[in-house]
Amino acid sequence: MSTNLIKIDERAHGFLDFGVAKAESVTESRRRSFEQFLSDGRNAGMDYLARNVDKRFDPSLLVPGARSVLCFLAPYGQASGGVAGFAQGADYHKVIKDRLFAVMQELKAQYPGFEGRPFVDSAPVLERFWAVKAGLGFIGQNNFFISPQHGLRTLIGVIVCNIPAERFPPHAPLAVTDCGACGACLKACPSGALRAPFDLDARKCISYLTIESDDPPQTSLDERRGWRFGCEECMRACPWDLPLAPLPEFETHRTELAAMTDEDWAGLSEAEFDERFADSGLRRAGYGKLTGR
Ligand code: SF4
Ligand code: SF4
Repeated sequence: MSTNLIKIDERAHGFLDFGVAKAESVTESRRRSFEQFLSDGRNAGMDYLARNVDKRFDPSLLVPGARSVLCFLAPYGQASGGVAGFAQGADYHKVIKDRLFAVMQELKAQYPGFEGRPFVDSAPVLERFWAVKAGLGFIGQNNFFISPQHGLRTLIGVIVCNIPAERFPPHAPLAVTDCGACGACLKACPSGALRAPFDLDARKCISYLTIESDDPPQTSLDERRGWRFGCEECMRACPWDLPLAPLPEFETHRTELAAMTDEDWAGLSEAEFDERFADSGLRRAGYGKLTGR
């Protein structure tokens, strides 16, 4: 099958950039570092990371017939009200997936036989690895994916598809290929979770503890520097924290979150929480953790 030259107006779909990587097994070094991360227990309670490991390393086990991985960058804004920037609106999983489905419709019309599956941080896919391989950026010492043009406030959406593909026109070569190793993220981490370059221990990470962990955080809001959902200390310290115009869906709760006081959170009933934040990623943490009940 000959290579298809993929031409997409990614901006029309709300994405800042896109790139294409060949769907093949991930590199041995990436595999080893992930396995080490798991064997050290640094994934904390995120047991799902240890499941389907082979699929994580080989997209053709996830999507039979996979030939290419298309990667898209979606911009989000700054934190407010102690809530991470990516959670200031609707759940990003759904927002990005909806937009990837629209991209796939366009690709199906252009490329006969095109089939694909979209993934957004919800299946065993190494999104950051693919975004790097697609030529969109690099990984910073704070473990964030960084685009030299757009910085680190992007979420990665991926389409694994069945056609051999290249981007058209080809992506411009990266002007910069590493973060610069200034060390500011390591100094800024309040909990010691980021214990060395690229070395994150999720068991101590405020972001993990306030979002993913099944147990409520054992620290006070003050000890967490006011972080109720997420933590951006290692992002904010980074010179690659560039301001971006977020997708509008990522902003729909910003005003109310910014206005909410500790008393408002403490007085929020579960029914009210469910109603007000029905479409929000805050539900990942749940009512109890957010309100301290
Ligand atoms: S998110 Fe917060 S706690 Fe986690 S590594 Fe970054 S600065 Fe440290
Ligand atoms: S803060 Fe400095 S060391 Fe950390 S990721 Fe950013 S540029 Fe790299």
